[in-house]
Amino acid sequence: MQELRELASKLLAEKQVAAVIGYEQGRLGVRPAFVTDAAGCDRLLFDHRCVHNLAAYLSPRRTQVAALGRLAVVVKACDARAVAGLIREGQLRREDLVLIGVRCGGVVCDPNCSAPLCAENVAPRCTVCEQREPKLADHLVGDPRPAPPASDRQGERLKELEAKPVAERLALWTELLSRCTRCHACRQVCPMCFCERCIADKTQPTWIESSPHTRGNLAWHLTRAMHLAGRCVGCGECERACPVQIPLGLLNRRLAQVVEERFGYSVTDDPSVPAPIGAFRLDDAEEFIR
Ligand code: SF4
Ligand code: SF4
Ligand code: SF4
Repeated sequence: MQELRELASKLLAEKQVAAVIGYEQGRLGVRPAFVTDAAGCDRLLFDHRCVHNLAAYLSPRRTQVAALGRLAVVVKACDARAVAGLIREGQLRREDLVLIGVRCGGVVCDPNCSAPLCAENVAPRCTVCEQREPKLADHLVGDPRPAPPASDRQGERLKELEAKPVAERLALWTELLSRCTRCHACRQVCPMCFCERCIADKTQPTWIESSPHTRGNLAWHLTRAMHLAGRCVGCGECERACPVQIPLGLLNRRLAQVVEERFGYSVTDDPSVPAPIGAFRLDDAEEFIR
């Protein structure tokens, strides 16, 4: 914590950045923090409650954040993949950012949970995390941490689902998605959902019905899933933000598996590696147009 605070304070005091985006203790739990003066850096912390993917603030949709000037951002390895995605897709310039990488030992599902990290409260992404130190970082702080508990509940649920016949899966997802209130919190929190005008908001013509009913909900989720194929970084923020607990992480993870099987691509924090959606290969099998 001290190393993080001292570094943030130095970056601000030397005017290398206009603000540091990190984490602080809030009234209910840990929350994102914007620190603009060196004296405020004592507020910064990092521990297993630092769930939020702060790369979401770097999306070009956040014009008020962009107006602050050059930023430093605290990133876990999984957050760095979102930063890489934004750079890869031309939404950010690497030189406009200072990335403070943190060595991570896993996070809980809920930033308001003060219990120690355990198999019951660990975030699903951490149970399969293979890289807990971001490579895409200007600084790396903290001591190496022990690996999080490896209880992959989400993976087991996905296998169970995949074993069911298609009609049963469709019925299950139709039922789950019928709960959706179309609040679009999942989109707002997502670092990779940055379209100036989302297709779900277009009305001339209306591509996706906006009222919450099964047909429109299915169209919304299928569209969003396809738009995030090979781009979703698996940060789990959409599922955490969902007020009706739709297991969006299952959809995201299945889609990531398909992209890996079909295109040999898994999301990376190297912005120079092209994602399948933005790349073209002459030897592409192109089965989808046969
Ligand atoms: S996925 Fe990895 S880097 Fe991200 S919070 Fe979990 S353990 Fe840390
Ligand atoms: S779709 Fe969800 S898990 Fe994927 S990047 Fe967006 S918020 Fe993170
Ligand atoms: S956050 Fe949940 S309820 Fe809101 S639009 Fe997304 S899936 Fe639907």
